[in-house]
Formats: sequence, structure tokens, C-alpha cells
Amino acid sequence: KILDNKVALVTGAGSGIGLAIAKLYAKEGAKVIVSDINEEHGKSAVEEIKSQGGEATFVKADTSNPEQVEALITKTVETYGRLDIACNNAGIGGEANPTGDYTLDGWKKVIDINLDGVFYGCKYELTQMEKNGGGVIVNIASIHGTVAAPLSSAYTSTKHAVVGLTKNIGAEYGQKNIRCNAVGPGYIDTPLLNQLDEEHKKALIAKHPMGRLGKSEEVAELVLFLSSDKSSFMTGGYYLVDGGYTAV
Ligand code: NAD
Repeated sequence: KILDNKVALVTGAGSGIGLAIAKLYAKEGAKVIVSDINEEHGKSAVEEIKSQGGEATFVKADTSNPEQVEALITKTVETYGRLDIACNNAGIGGEANPTGDYTLDGWKKVIDINLDGVFYGCKYELTQMEKNGGGVIVNIASIHGTVAAPLSSAYTSTKHAVVGLTKNIGAEYGQKNIRCNAVGPGYIDTPLLNQLDEEHKKALIAKHPMGRLGKSEEVAELVLFLSSDKSSFMTGGYYLVDGGYTAV
């Protein structure tokens, strides 16, 4: 198994893409800290992993709260002794409005979770990884880390920023045995898309040359590769898994 003896952390692991990543990490031998703001979903993710023979522990944390994120890393080390792999996945879509009508509160909420939350994660993960001699971070951005999402300027802004943050970490930690990459999924069939009506969903599907939405498991495979030693010369990068969305 390619993650044997590794300790991995996934935020937003109670649902969708984060859940698929946590399950795949565990299947590949990692001990997984499943973190989410939603306790019920986080706990049921741990039960699912354990029922499939994996090792996991739930730790509740709101990634937009720096004290809770610092405590999450402390708890990870108390539980499994170190931190080798971290996937900063928790994120929201946020309000849908043209930029001129975007509310100040709506803007701030998306920035707090999708950007500040990823920064808090990276900050405390990096400190711990330096202590234990190295590690790997994967940040979940989006295709909207490179192209627009009309009516979601806060989302587009945060995802572009996560790509920039990832490049900076790659540049700063290259000689400290810590790699950091970002992933850019196209539209993936998760509860995040529940807020869309059928017509909007169809229009989104049409934007993917492969003619369908992606699956969480298809994103998890790329994240696994970037989290493992198979990607040992890759850092500061941004990799798409988008069914061709950004190619046209
Ligand atoms: P999801 O809504 O299914 O799951 C997100 C999880 O994050 C939920 O369990 C939720 O409780 C948790 N969460 C939300 N706010 C949190 C907070 N402040 N602290 C801790 N946990 C929190 O969504 P998903 O589709 O799996 O999205 C996961 C990530 O993938 C997000 O960053 C999203 O932007 C990104 N993404 C999703 C898509 C897509 O089409 N679904 C496409 C590209 C990128």
C-alpha cells in the first residue's frame, strides 16, 4: 500500500470530495484524521472507514477559526504521533450574485472558509511537518482557480488565491522536504451542487467535453498521487481533473 505508516489529515472529510479522499487514503494504509464542521457526517465517515478495515479518528474543527485549526493539528499529533499528509479540502460555493450585487457578508464568508481556512491549515501543518522532518500538502482549488465562475466572484477569487498560496509554499519549502500542490476539479457530483436546479446542472454538464460531471473518486485518485512518493519531484503545481472543461 502506498501510504503505509503515513498519518494523513483531511478537512471537510464528512462529505463529497473530502470523504472520497479520506476513504482512499485509509484504503492505501494511512491513519486518517477525518475533520469536518459537521460532527454527524464526520463520525459516520470514520465508521465507514473502520468498517472497511481502515484506521481513522474524527476531530471537529471549523477551518475558518485559526484556534480550532491549530488545535486540530495538536490533536492529530496527540492521536497518531506525527503529520505526513494534509489535504485542505473544506470549502463552500457561497452566494450567487453578480459582483456589483454581491453582499459584503456573503463575500466575507467565502473568503473566511475558502481562503483564510486554507491558509490556517497550511500554516499549522507546515509548522508540524518541519518538526517531523517533512510532509506533503494538497490544497483543493477548482477550475475556478484559472477560469471565471459567473455569479461567484468570491469563489473564483479564493480559488485563484489558493493556487497562489500553493505556489508560494512550493517556493519556500522546496529544500525542507515539504511539497505542496493544488488540484483543480471541474464540476463534481457532490452535495455542494445540490443548490443548483436541473436546468443549471444540465448547462454545467454541457461545459465539460466529456459530457458528464466528475465523480469524487476521480478527484481522490489525483490527490492520492500528489500525496504519495510517486509525485516526489512535484511541488508548487496546479493540476486539473476537469473532464476537459478548461480546454475549450
Ligand atoms: P461538500 O459540500 O460535499 O463537502 C464539503 C464539506 O466541507 C462538508 O462536509 C462541510 O461540512 C465541510 N465544511 C464546510 N465548511 C467548513 C468549515 N468552515 N470547516 C470545516 N468543514 C467545513 O463539497 P465538495 O463538493 O466535496 O467540495 C469540497 C471541496 O472541493 C471544496 O473546497 C470545493 O470548493 C471544491 N470543489 C468542488 C467542486 C464540485 O463541483 N463539487 C469542484 C471544484 C472544487
